[in-house]
Amino acid sequence: MSTLQLEVVTPDKTVVSEAVEMAICPGVVGEFGVLPNHVSLLSALKIGDLRYRVNGKDEHVFISGGFADVNNNVLSVLAESAEKAGDIDEARAKAAKERAEKRLAEKSENLDEARAHAALSRALVRLQILQG
Ligand code: ATP
Repeated sequence: MSTLQLEVVTPDKTVVSEAVEMAICPGVVGEFGVLPNHVSLLSALKIGDLRYRVNGKDEHVFISGGFADVNNNVLSVLAESAEKAGDIDEARAKAAKERAEKRLAEKSENLDEARAHAALSRALVRLQILQG
């Protein structure tokens, strides 16, 4: 049986490098699944939960958005930041959520709203992943 090699890479490190049974990616226009022998594909990703299955067990990785490339049974995901579920620091995500919410509520003159929304979204998705 063919397998799919999943590589999740950030500018700092390789977060996942594993043969998987399947993966579900947070595409910008919706989630998409990748099985072995998938056709070649390039897709932008949004902030989300990338799920993959190894030995029948589902694993979760936080992805801050980026790109997914499928070619010859290799799924390469390039993201600005990514963490496996077990590496997510809950206190840090809660603090980031509160910071972003405070910024959005204060609406100060030099607020970068898109940036604050993106930070809030990263924190919420990290917390969602932790809640399983
Ligand atoms: P923060 O404001 O807490 O830095 P952020 O969403 O702005 O949150 P990112 O820019 O996505 O952070 O990531 C910066 C680095 O910190 C990356 O290496 C990322 O993996 C790591 N990181 C950020 N938040 C967490 C977290 N809650 N748990 C584990 N690692 C985290």
